[in-house]
Amino acid sequence: MKSAKITGPNEPLVVSDFDNPEPQNNQVLVKVKSVGVCHSDLHLWEGGYDLGDGQFMKVTDRGVKYPVTPGHEIVGTVEKIGSNVSDVKLGDEVLVFPWIGCGDCPACKVGNENLCDTPKSMGVFQDGGYSDYALIPDSKYLALLDGVNPDSATSLACSGLTAYTAIKKSNQNSPEFLVIVGAGGLGLMGVQIAKAITNAKIICVDLDDKKLETAKEMGADYILNSKDPETAQKIISICNGKGADSVVDFVNAPPTAKLDLAVLRKRGNLILVGLFGGSIELSLVTIPLKSIIIQGAYTGNYDDMVELLDLARKGIIDPVISKRYTLDEANNALEDLKARKIVGRAVINP
Ligand code: NAD
Ligand code: ZN
Repeated sequence: MKSAKITGPNEPLVVSDFDNPEPQNNQVLVKVKSVGVCHSDLHLWEGGYDLGDGQFMKVTDRGVKYPVTPGHEIVGTVEKIGSNVSDVKLGDEVLVFPWIGCGDCPACKVGNENLCDTPKSMGVFQDGGYSDYALIPDSKYLALLDGVNPDSATSLACSGLTAYTAIKKSNQNSPEFLVIVGAGGLGLMGVQIAKAITNAKIICVDLDDKKLETAKEMGADYILNSKDPETAQKIISICNGKGADSVVDFVNAPPTAKLDLAVLRKRGNLILVGLFGGSIELSLVTIPLKSIIIQGAYTGNYDDMVELLDLARKGIIDPVISKRYTLDEANNALEDLKARKIVGRAVINP
């Protein structure tokens, strides 16, 4: 098989040939049709996350071992199965749930493997889908596409799934006004999902007018470019002068986090999702006085992914796939994402 591997931080990905793995027991070998290119692949490629104040959290300190094949949004067909597999058959078109846990910790025991204490996520801690074949540890991590377009389905394993979890959290206080910050791969899914599952008026913020126009087509009621220094004031006045009930931040960097807190109303609900990183100072007293909730959201669980596939099958959500690359173009795909040239999602078709 042919895989594109990250060999070290900021080194060009190396595409080379390997022996095809032989699936054992519950394992399944999937022939990859399409794999999504996520901003998290960029963080993996860059070697970590910005903690602010010049500090950097290295992915190798979190258990990543280079060389690694990135790619956690994997769609393909079942090529070979281990001896214990009976729930999928050869040729089935499947989406892979990549957020694999230990199976044993409190999170895994209630089905939230995405929040496992010792995660084994595909494309991060074990080889993923920037490859023509991927070895899936257990057939229980597969979901049948059953008619969903393979390129569109990729994003349901991460960008769609993460947006779904985050929007569900943002809906806990039945928002009248919901601000979505970042109209990238995650944010555009967030807009579509918010339109489908909340009653909120959606205000979308980004730095890029083209992405904001797409957000409007996807259902955003208001779009604002945060290059405008009056953005916070404009959001508050859209929200009847009170501020937003909920904010979901798919960027989560100092300028956006400051904007989030500035526009959040009393009893507001802030969900931080992006991993752009950095740090900010918090005015502590405003948190109890305004009784706000600040929470994080990290990917989602298998059941949510299956629910999302169903929403896609019914046409309620339709992920934006704007660009396709070959495996040999993996470096170009990451470079283009870094240069903010991708609207919605790009995929690699190995
Ligand atoms: P993307 O590159 O497709 O989109 C990022 C968007 O943010 C772009 O539209 C860009 O113009 C906009 N942006 C950047 N800086 C901004 C600013 N200061 N103000 C307003 N807009 C700004 O990225 P993506 O794939 O959507 O991922 C977004 C982030 O979410 C990444 O950090 C990624 O690693 C992270 N992520 C988190 C989870 C999770 O579970 N929490 C899952 C997947 C990805
Ligand atoms: Zn991702």
